[in-house]
Amino acid sequence: MNSVTRGPNFCATTPPADLLLPTLSSPPATSAQRIPLTACPLCGAGAFRPVVVVESHPVVRCQSCDLQFTQPQPSDSELAAIYGPDYVLAADGTPEHAVITRAKRATADHYLDLLAAAGAAGRGRLLEIGCGAGNFLLQASRRGFDVTGVEYSPFACERARQTLGGTGRVMQGEIDVVAGEPGYYDVCVLCDVIEHVRRPAHFLGQVAAALRPGGLLLVVTPSTSSWSARIMRSRWMELKPEHLFYFSPATLTRQLSQAGFEGIKLHRGTKHLSLDYVAAHFEKYPVAGIRTALRGARAVTPASWRERPVPIVASGIIALARTPTSHASTAGSDKHR
Ligand SMILES: [Zn+2]
Repeated sequence: MNSVTRGPNFCATTPPADLLLPTLSSPPATSAQRIPLTACPLCGAGAFRPVVVVESHPVVRCQSCDLQFTQPQPSDSELAAIYGPDYVLAADGTPEHAVITRAKRATADHYLDLLAAAGAAGRGRLLEIGCGAGNFLLQASRRGFDVTGVEYSPFACERARQTLGGTGRVMQGEIDVVAGEPGYYDVCVLCDVIEHVRRPAHFLGQVAAALRPGGLLLVVTPSTSSWSARIMRSRWMELKPEHLFYFSPATLTRQLSQAGFEGIKLHRGTKHLSLDYVAAHFEKYPVAGIRTALRGARAVTPASWRERPVPIVASGIIALARTPTSHASTAGSDKHR
């Protein structure tokens, strides 16, 4: 096994910068005990192979279905310590914040284009779980969606409300806060959230319940099959203690299917990043050689180019799926919640 230290993060929606603190399905941080999983949460098998150790947290792969997960799972208190105020890269009003915001909104537009191509072109009610500072919700609102965001962090909630400027709703809490609105939403978006939740199957069941029959789900998560995962291996930037599960196209498809979703389509996880965005990230999370190279690149690149977000296939996967047109069949075949 290899051992890694806290790596950098290219995820554009929960990036270094994000305010998203998605312990969305975890209980209050009271326990200091790590939580061993006796069976694979996806397939129920009990044989795992070690993959890597991330800051003292072993990651294993299920020998039956290939799902990767932290084993044992981090304790509540360990996660609470990670999701502290320093989970934010740049303070509001700084040049870095402007760069990050621009990149996030460009990525949001890409996701909205995918939703539009799937038939959700700016009409109806859109729910984002883990909405962070509200950049995706703002872009969705501008396209005509009636937007609702759910966010665990009170600080991020306040930022999201400021971002939206009175449009839509932002609710503080976990997905349970929309449990009283079954079948209410036309679209649900989960950007870099599913890998953080304690019980993905249960969580997706709650998402399915919030959607109307035939409702559309968009999921963005790191992929163990991405080029960056294959090349960087134990130095992959998505290896973090707070990432409890690591999906591949196959395991994500299986997870969504178990929760009752249909018509699952996968896309490469393109995000929009600028040179300034990437450089700011590596200033915070230095990696030998890369920070120096980026400083050199910035020195010879005009500002207008440094700030321009460009599409990059980095580390993720995007899944689009629908709830069945009749909720009678969405009870879910999952036996391992
Ligand atoms: Zn398994």
